[in-house]
Amino acid sequence: MLNRAVRKTVSSASEAPGERASTTVRLTDVTHEYGTGGGFRSRRERTVTALRDVSIEVDPGEIVGLEGPSGSGKSTILHAVTGLLVPTAGTVELHGTDLTTLSDRERTRIRRRHVGIVFQRFHLLSSLSARANVALPLVQAGVPKSARRERATALLEEVGLGDRITHLPSELSGGEQQRVAIARALATDPDVIVADEPTGELDTATGETVLDLLTDLGRDRAILVASHDDTTLSVADRLITLRDGTVVSDGG
Ligand code: ADP
Repeated sequence: MLNRAVRKTVSSASEAPGERASTTVRLTDVTHEYGTGGGFRSRRERTVTALRDVSIEVDPGEIVGLEGPSGSGKSTILHAVTGLLVPTAGTVELHGTDLTTLSDRERTRIRRRHVGIVFQRFHLLSSLSARANVALPLVQAGVPKSARRERATALLEEVGLGDRITHLPSELSGGEQQRVAIARALATDPDVIVADEPTGELDTATGETVLDLLTDLGRDRAILVASHDDTTLSVADRLITLRDGTVVSDGG
């Protein structure tokens, strides 16, 4: 849990996105086309339809697994939920606020406050210590330095890395780096966590440890996990299956 000073600073540094609704994440009729660029010989730009009329809801405390072959649209859904991507059509709501109607700046602010992201390849900053990586979202949220250090240290202890806080990513194993990434994703106490192949770079045993941490520390939040891996998907309360950008089943 955030200590009071951190919680107060985080919440005052960024507004809550509207009324708290019971559904944390809601995508409605989302279609997305990527422009692929045509090259100088082409007469018109080619596009790839990555999502077609996708509607998904995730409630607080629910872990939803996104499954489907490579190219079926899993990452595009996660990017839409983070607000890093604005779909061509449809709405993406976090707590009832439609991200697609917001400016880039407002979407960034909501992402930083409400969404924790765990990537397949960890995406830690190589020049920063484990603690500085975990504290980074708190810098962006305007949390004072002493509270940031306290929070980052506490989170690293929670993921079992209390003795590695000053290590650089290059001095950590893959599993340890992903544990740092999970601590970083939780730094602002987000209510949504998206994880794209979070165990993709890890061996089975290490992957299971990372999943245990993600689901344990992420409890009570809405979690979306995209993966090909059945063990990873087994943590989900509900599975959504995608094929060619459409939802072919929801609730497996
Ligand atoms: P998945 O995560 O299931 O592998 P993606 O969401 O990454 O699927 O991709 C869905 C479709 O969109 C694929 O056909 C993919 O090639 C295409 N795509 C993804 N990102 C881009 C991009 N930046 N530019 C063009 N096409 C893209």
